[in-house]
Amino acid sequence: MLPGAGLRVGVLALQGGVREHVELLTSLGARAVLVRRPVQLEDLDALVLPGGESSTIDRLTRILGLRDPLRATLAGGLPTLGTCAGLILLADRVLDPAPGQQSLGGLDVTVRRNAFGRQVDSAEETLATTLGPVRAAFIRAPEVVAVGEGVEVNARRGDDVGDPHAPIVGVRAGSLLGISFHPELTGETTVHRELLRLASVRRGRVG
Ligand code: GLN
Repeated sequence: MLPGAGLRVGVLALQGGVREHVELLTSLGARAVLVRRPVQLEDLDALVLPGGESSTIDRLTRILGLRDPLRATLAGGLPTLGTCAGLILLADRVLDPAPGQQSLGGLDVTVRRNAFGRQVDSAEETLATTLGPVRAAFIRAPEVVAVGEGVEVNARRGDDVGDPHAPIVGVRAGSLLGISFHPELTGETTVHRELLRLASVRRGRVG
């Protein structure tokens, strides 16, 4: 049975790399639900906040009345994966924000936007993570520069997730997973499988 069978996974669909997440989740057997209105957050088993431009997504969540419902959803423990701009939205603290930019918060980390350089410095590489090797694309990616107590470091740039000097690019705290990179652009399924596992556990099924 596919890991997403019977699971409804929302993908915040305001801007950015929505389609790739929908296709990946669908290939894993999940039903992907585009989230553009608060009512679409109901009855989800998990949620993905995709990459894109975090300041634009932030502005749109406020214009569309999604900010408070999203914050309540995250606080309610819905398994949620934030990739790149999505990680920035999850972070409690954002360095180098755009003017007026806010995050949703919930994840006790500090991120620095565009920490690894410009679009032209984008790179695809294999990371050693606590979930195993992950093929990752970095596109104007944020770095996690500080983590609070209770936040697990799951991925660092490079081939040694235990190297305390390597930049942090993947974290988990409870139901929230945040990654700086894009697995959905490389055909990598490991992180989405982990999200679906958390969703299954929450549904009380055997993961
Ligand atoms: N630099 C973007 C931001 O600040 C994130 C880039 C991405 O999601 N690929 O939102």
